[in-house]
Amino acid sequence: MTEQNTSELSPTIQANAAAHAVALLGTPASRGIAFGRVSFLKRQAAPEEKITVNDAQAEVERFTKARTEAIAQLGQLYEASLEKLGEQNAVIFQIHQMMLDDPDYVEQIERLIVTEQCNAEYAVDQVATRFAQMFSNMDNEYMQGRAADVLDVSRRVVQVLLAQKGITSPHQLKKYGNEPLILATDDLAPSETVQLDKDQVVGILTSAGSARSHTVIFARTMGIPAVISMGDALNESLEGQWVIVDGAAGVVYIDPDDELQRHYRERKRTEDALRARLELFRGKETRTLSGRRIHLYANIGSSEDIDLVKASDAEGVGLFRSEYIYLHAKDYPDEESQFKVYREAAQDLEGRKLIIRTMDIGADKTADYFMLKHEENPAMGMRAVRICLAHPEIFKTQLRALLRASAYGDLAIMFPMITSVDEVKGCLKICAEAEDELRSEGIPFNEHMEKGIMIETPAAALISDELAPLVDFFSIGTNDLTQFTLAVDRQNAEVGRFLNPYHHAVIRLLKMTIDNAHSHGIWVGVCGELAADEGFTHKLIELGVDEISVAPSSVLMLRARIATLA
Ligand code: PEP
Ligand code: MG
Repeated sequence: MTEQNTSELSPTIQANAAAHAVALLGTPASRGIAFGRVSFLKRQAAPEEKITVNDAQAEVERFTKARTEAIAQLGQLYEASLEKLGEQNAVIFQIHQMMLDDPDYVEQIERLIVTEQCNAEYAVDQVATRFAQMFSNMDNEYMQGRAADVLDVSRRVVQVLLAQKGITSPHQLKKYGNEPLILATDDLAPSETVQLDKDQVVGILTSAGSARSHTVIFARTMGIPAVISMGDALNESLEGQWVIVDGAAGVVYIDPDDELQRHYRERKRTEDALRARLELFRGKETRTLSGRRIHLYANIGSSEDIDLVKASDAEGVGLFRSEYIYLHAKDYPDEESQFKVYREAAQDLEGRKLIIRTMDIGADKTADYFMLKHEENPAMGMRAVRICLAHPEIFKTQLRALLRASAYGDLAIMFPMITSVDEVKGCLKICAEAEDELRSEGIPFNEHMEKGIMIETPAAALISDELAPLVDFFSIGTNDLTQFTLAVDRQNAEVGRFLNPYHHAVIRLLKMTIDNAHSHGIWVGVCGELAADEGFTHKLIELGVDEISVAPSSVLMLRARIATLA
């Protein structure tokens, strides 16, 4: 067994590992605690060796038949998953159907069969590997996650092809009596995940895998703890070992002693009870005891997180950090590509609110093509609306894309790092120009799209009475507001202990902002990390916030908390 360098482990894990078990570390993928025996997934034995065929055309027809059958199977899987995982998750199987219909994929397989006079199984395997490599090499994490999908659908086609020849050997897990199993494998396909028998498989370990894959999203939705990317530490010598999986910490304890098991059983009882209680709040409105409605939204870093938003039961997106689009691009992203991202996000949210922050480039988020000069203090340098107002052509491209997408959902926009009335007026002016252009081009957009600003500098909070009449809402960014109010660099771990969002100065600015928003008849939310602090929710409610936007994983917990507050 490969033991990991224990210096990589947190102090608690180190202590547990030293005294009570061997600890293996991976990436936390789905929270929760599981106990069981490791069982490696045995897949079909190498069916894809190359065989020369006499009649390539007949082989192409075999492939076509298998592809049609696989598409039909995926349709059944979609229907079966609707109940288990909900529409937003089940849709992956419709996407898989589309993958099997992709002309490029189909054509490459057919061409290989003909040019190499080879069997269909081999051709499917070769092309699937080629596509998976192409996806894995992409910069975009979402596209990297698609590598698992193309391998998954291709494996299905190969299985159908083999079944045509009478070879069937379903995936197998070694059983250990009636003991719960911890499934171990290199990577798990979404279709394999969804077909797991939850009564038998209580945890998942993979040596590879991406935290954004559908497998991980499904594992979370199904409540199965998972640790992924364990590398060589996960090898077959673990077969049959009794382990504890701590999904939140990304740790697997091998052969834990009684004391560690007792500790984890106690934790599991508490967590299960809490989760069951939180589930009661799913599908409910967020209201205080006195019935005051609070809008509970989620923060996301990219459009791929929208699956998580829906799974979390958030009522919308309160902060979409659009700069990720710029960070993933090699040059300024054009209007059309941005429009597609925003439109898809708006459509995927199916009527829920979507507040997109215009790009907050600069400080720790830079892209080479912006050619920003070296700055001593970039957090206080050329960033966000300062760049946008200095380069209106770049800004207008984003605004036109956002406005166009506003025709497809309940989309609002907000401007970050505001410090003055002139900046807000400048942003709104360019926005009005973009609207005029779209009107004269006959391109539809929401004429009443809400426009707000982030309050994340002390200056903005202090003049919030002057800013409120200009906009439809405020969203308070407590991360930057704390940094700038207390003169503490949020990036510098050494001064981390001074970064105190509960400081009276910050609270006073919060109060001032909320009061000024309300006296001018606009709503106000909080989207910094402070919003997710359960111990502070009572204060936010007391101060009068109308909206709270947090990481998807905190949504149900906060809804439950708010329900206990007057
Ligand atoms: C904030 O500053 O609180 C905020 C939400 O924005 P970011 O963390 O992206 O700077
Ligand atoms: Mg900020």
